[in-house]
Amino acid sequence: MILVSIGAPQELELNSISESSKEQNQKYVSYNITCRDGKAKTLKIKINNKWIETPLFIPGHSFRGKNGNPYFWEKTVIGPLEFEKIDVSAIMVNAYDLRNLINDTPIHQLLGFEGVVYIDSGGYQYLSKKIIPNPEKIMNIQEKSNADIIVPLDRPIPRKPTEEQIRLSIQDTLKNNLLWQERFGERVLPVIHGTELKHLVNQMEELSEPKIVGIGSLVPQFMYTSRKKTISLISSFTSLYPDIYLHAFGVSYSLSSLLFLIGVDSVDSTSWIHNSRFGSMRLPYQGPRSVALRTKSVSRHKSLTRNEWESFKCSCPICSYQDRDKVWEMLMSWKALGFRTRSIHNVFVNLELANEIKEKICSNSLKSYINEVISKTSLSYLLKDDKLRQEIFQLV
Ligand SMILES: [Zn+2]
Repeated sequence: MILVSIGAPQELELNSISESSKEQNQKYVSYNITCRDGKAKTLKIKINNKWIETPLFIPGHSFRGKNGNPYFWEKTVIGPLEFEKIDVSAIMVNAYDLRNLINDTPIHQLLGFEGVVYIDSGGYQYLSKKIIPNPEKIMNIQEKSNADIIVPLDRPIPRKPTEEQIRLSIQDTLKNNLLWQERFGERVLPVIHGTELKHLVNQMEELSEPKIVGIGSLVPQFMYTSRKKTISLISSFTSLYPDIYLHAFGVSYSLSSLLFLIGVDSVDSTSWIHNSRFGSMRLPYQGPRSVALRTKSVSRHKSLTRNEWESFKCSCPICSYQDRDKVWEMLMSWKALGFRTRSIHNVFVNLELANEIKEKICSNSLKSYINEVISKTSLSYLLKDDKLRQEIFQLV
């Protein structure tokens, strides 16, 4: 393992599977640690000759749905209005969505996006359609997509799992990680699962200590088992692996803010789309709020009034648009234009959170940021727990 000293960043080159693939992929993924504050860190990562910086929110993009998700990385036309593009360095797609789409068109071309594209297996989407996913088929779709980072098919740990379910999840996921690494070498972001530190450590050892790794099944554990235990588990993991590029799969706004503080580097989520579909806007440092006119009672979120919208500061292309009456009218719509308008705002708020935390890490002001900002969020109760607070603050 190569150690990196703070203040003298050096490029890490990853171990590869075999000598021959090492030759081929020697510099496929490499990174510097640029700042550190407590357990939190910022990375500058080179993937396939493109750069990303962490902490990073990776928006999940889906090709499904009749309205289509907005291509917010381009200028977007919604109804009569045109909105500026949003800067984004990475996007996550999944193989299930691409099964009938890909043909011979690379994903970057399909998206009109030159940044880093991660491709998930779509295992969750296959299972939700009651289709048993076929590893070989998924690998073929992923290969054709020519995405930059490839995520193996994993077997998530279910809610309230038995010991046997945990064991099977780890065993099957590990088998696939190795299969994928054999085919794709350093393009693979291996997935690990576990409810205890020893589970995660064992998988790291089996994978020959990869320098990039993603943790799955966090949300079910966080929501249905123990929030404190989940944060504690990740915190213990990042203590053992302080220099690794660690991704957390399927994690949205509030949980991601806590994970960035304890050393997670990137997260991906499609909640920006789902919130919008249910008529809601994500407010900075708050939960989602319902803005669409309640002609349907699908949203359980508290309503957002025009005055409240005017009072919070958001510099997204939607909220900063000049014609505020028109934008507000669009935000309230249940039609495609409402969905697209809310989505663009939501993705921006997620991206901004990661940018803001990055800035606080590099200016060594994370502690005051947690005290002043995070303590006012819906997760503030976690900071009131002495043991957990110590864990988060320990090194900050
Ligand atoms: Zn906005």
